[in-house]
Amino acid sequence: AFGPEVVPQGPEDVMFGLIAAYRRDQDPNKVDLGIGAYRDNNAKPWVLPVVKQADELLRKDPNLNHEYLPIAGLPEFTSASQQLICGANSPAIKDKRVLSVQTISGTGAVHLGALFLSKFYSPANKEAKVVYASAPTWANHNQIFTNVGLEMKSYPYFNKKTCALDLDAMLASLNSAPSGSIILLHACAHNPTGVDPTQEQWKKIAQVIKDKQHFPFFDCAYQGFASGSLAKDGWAINYFIEQGFELLIAQSFAKNFGLYGERAGCFHFVTGPASSAQDTIARVGSQLAILQRSEISNPPAYGARIASLVLNDKALFAQWEEDLRTMSGRIIEMRKALRGKLEQLGTPGEWNHITEQIGMFSFTGLSEEQVGKLRDQWHVYMTKNGRISMAGLNTKNVEYFAKAVDSVVR
Ligand code: PLP
Repeated sequence: AFGPEVVPQGPEDVMFGLIAAYRRDQDPNKVDLGIGAYRDNNAKPWVLPVVKQADELLRKDPNLNHEYLPIAGLPEFTSASQQLICGANSPAIKDKRVLSVQTISGTGAVHLGALFLSKFYSPANKEAKVVYASAPTWANHNQIFTNVGLEMKSYPYFNKKTCALDLDAMLASLNSAPSGSIILLHACAHNPTGVDPTQEQWKKIAQVIKDKQHFPFFDCAYQGFASGSLAKDGWAINYFIEQGFELLIAQSFAKNFGLYGERAGCFHFVTGPASSAQDTIARVGSQLAILQRSEISNPPAYGARIASLVLNDKALFAQWEEDLRTMSGRIIEMRKALRGKLEQLGTPGEWNHITEQIGMFSFTGLSEEQVGKLRDQWHVYMTKNGRISMAGLNTKNVEYFAKAVDSVVR
């Protein structure tokens, strides 16, 4: 029943294929700049000290059990996640205009939002039931939205010449999209480019989205990880909420807690300050519960318990902020080191974008051919689009990598 005419061979996932190739490589100098997971200066996974502390507390708890969580997840986790992403003094939280559901990390939150939109989003103009994502965007976005039957289009974002944001082209594209379109936005640390709008640019983006009555969907996978400041990285979402938008948020705790495999995340629906807000929240909540029940029944408990302990305890929270500064600080140092080494070597091209970009990734501007040479000749693994995970660099390999880049661009 499942011959190749009905089930053709699918392509291997690019990212996980890259990891497998890296693991097979026996060269002692090999460098993994593929996957977006934090590594310490010894290229090893890093368990955040605050996560270790929370883990010990959890294990000591004599009442800990393995019961199901409620359908919408651990209440103390979802309420703290809400405050983190909307801001503790958010007008939306005060007015109880935020509805939150714990999900399978950020991917699950994007999926739940996509599924909700596919079932319930009904713009007056039917042609507006389209998701506009940045060009480029996280590779998984496309399949998450199209798998639930939503059409995807893109808006210009990254200017290849300047390796920076092409704001004018982005605004023009949002302006010409059918009124009421779904606009997918990366809240901070844009993946894969590392290019974020400034606050002034965000205001212009918000204005066009408001004028055109588009519907914003924020994907936030790196709060606190980009700049080291939770508030700064959450600014765009806070601003949109202050402007009274109805919007969706997918929130991941994979990177900022280093809880990748524990799948801790949250989906938030925020409605505007209308008199019918409570009614909207109740109806939307009831439908999200039905979707959640049919998809995963209820979310996994362990990662959410760890994050919840930290988010709800002042001392642990302060330790977490310290850990976030450690991770983001090391990445920022590596950006400086890489740019410095390339400039020292006189490597052809401009390298200022390496320090101007932010977060886990840098879009180097290297071509697919150069990326191929880096892999074949230098055992450096990165995606074909020239993206590198800054977390894969450390004081021991940054010079090697700079020399490798130098050799392939000459
Ligand atoms: N969205 C973006 C833009 C990402 O970069 C990621 C992780 O790479 C995610 C969402 C979701 O990741 P996870 O499902 O591990 O939380």
